[in-house]
Amino acid sequence: MYTLDPKKVPQPDETLDSYIRRLRKDAQISQQHLATMAGIHLQSVGKLERGKTTKLNQKTKTGLARALSIPTEYLEAICSGQPIAEIENYKFCPQCWTPGTEPDSAWTLYRAKYCLLCGSKLRNHCTSCGETLTSFKHKFCPHCGTSYQEKPKKRK
Ligand SMILES: [Zn+2]
Ligand SMILES: [Zn+2]
Repeated sequence: MYTLDPKKVPQPDETLDSYIRRLRKDAQISQQHLATMAGIHLQSVGKLERGKTTKLNQKTKTGLARALSIPTEYLEAICSGQPIAEIENYKFCPQCWTPGTEPDSAWTLYRAKYCLLCGSKLRNHCTSCGETLTSFKHKFCPHCGTSYQEKPKKRK
């Protein structure tokens, strides 16, 4: 299970080499260290970061994902050129989330589709106009002013 760190999500214009390099630098580890952690050759890391590798084999992918604490799906997405926008990182439960506060990490998990607390379907957009949520600091949709919270929270 991963707690999604927004900084670890591949950026829309990022390539595999710059992505790996960025995560490695963020983690403050050397190429040698990354290679050891991922169980791959130092040359492979070097080639990757020079943009010589565009496809990862399964071993490299799982090794790198483990070493960099990212889901392998990120690496798959960036290799296949899949739009990263499809990776929904700003997901929330319309019932449990209090807009303007930090979300429960259970919602931002890569594969989470439903709220673990109440079973509601998670969403990442405004119900009224469909604009995607861009910050958990927003309480209302910046486009149409609709509250992100579906119903007032029921207190027991
Ligand atoms: Zn919920
Ligand atoms: Zn809206």
